[in-house]
Amino acid sequence: MIEEQSELQGRPLKPGELFRFACRPALACFNACCRDKRLPLLPYDLLRLRRGLKQNSSDILATLVELEEDPGSGRPALRIKLQPDGVCPFVSPDGCTVYEHRPTCCRIYPLARAVQPGAGGAEPSQIFLRQDTPGCLGWEEPDELDIDAWIADQDLAPFQAANNRALKLFMHPAKKGKVSLNQAQTHAFISALYNLDGFRDLVQQEGFTAKFAISDQRLAAALKSDEELLDLGIDWLIGVLFGG
Ligand code: SF4
Ligand code: SF4
Repeated sequence: MIEEQSELQGRPLKPGELFRFACRPALACFNACCRDKRLPLLPYDLLRLRRGLKQNSSDILATLVELEEDPGSGRPALRIKLQPDGVCPFVSPDGCTVYEHRPTCCRIYPLARAVQPGAGGAEPSQIFLRQDTPGCLGWEEPDELDIDAWIADQDLAPFQAANNRALKLFMHPAKKGKVSLNQAQTHAFISALYNLDGFRDLVQQEGFTAKFAISDQRLAAALKSDEELLDLGIDWLIGVLFGG
């Protein structure tokens, strides 16, 4: 999920600080990291996987995703369902079969990002930490880069922007400590954030927009763009969970 620094390990990197890393098919460890991992899926990750796989979101949720409770926050947390042998279902001998749409956790490694929401609408503050992992030979490569270069190389910007937009939900001021969602709230959480096809049907049900004061313009934008639909889902869920 979206982590705070206290939840992450690793040495913080300063902006502009150089580190050495490269991941290449020629390395002996290639693909070794795509197994036996907890691979969390943020809402935008599922949006992108759905786009890449061209499957209905409910089918993806039923076959490729596992639900757990995030131990820190108590929120539902989704992750890629590994195959019985512990391998990610998307890995092939040639690498990741969903590479263009792979989730945040796979893009950001060998770094991790911890965030703090900005006060009064300011940009969130963030910190990046090195994740030195035993067996990952990428750390022995000579290529030098900094955080910005890695973000650009991995096309992380749209993922970070979308994940930042979700902070108003995940770090809502009304959330005090660990949450405990009932069955209906858990269903709303999954529907609005992860089951975009189901949520699209829901917002078009008669009376939905009037009940939740959603303008015709916002509905039209959400029906045209998955990103807008997800943003609508976040705002709707804030109302459901926190009353606004
Ligand atoms: S270099 Fe690291 S990230 Fe790349 S394949 Fe090897 S273990 Fe995975
Ligand atoms: S999604 Fe792709 S990069 Fe991530 S673990 Fe699976 S195969 Fe590896």
